[in-house]
Amino acid sequence: MSEPRTYPSAPVVLPDRTNELEPTPVDGCLGCLELAKVRDWARAGGDMTTVTDCNVLMARHPDGH
Ligand SMILES: [Zn+2]
Repeated sequence: MSEPRTYPSAPVVLPDRTNELEPTPVDGCLGCLELAKVRDWARAGGDMTTVTDCNVLMARHPDGH
């Protein structure tokens, strides 16, 4: 018994949105460091709203560097 393959099965790759959404703190910037800290705490507490807030703030931070 063989099933004809009409369509090649492409591997399903789930986009890792975590990396996209989370900017990395800039080295030597206390503001970014603080945001990263608060973000970690918020994530540990399941507060995704604060996590997102921190990410937005951090993403904007480079403008001020
Ligand atoms: Zn910064």
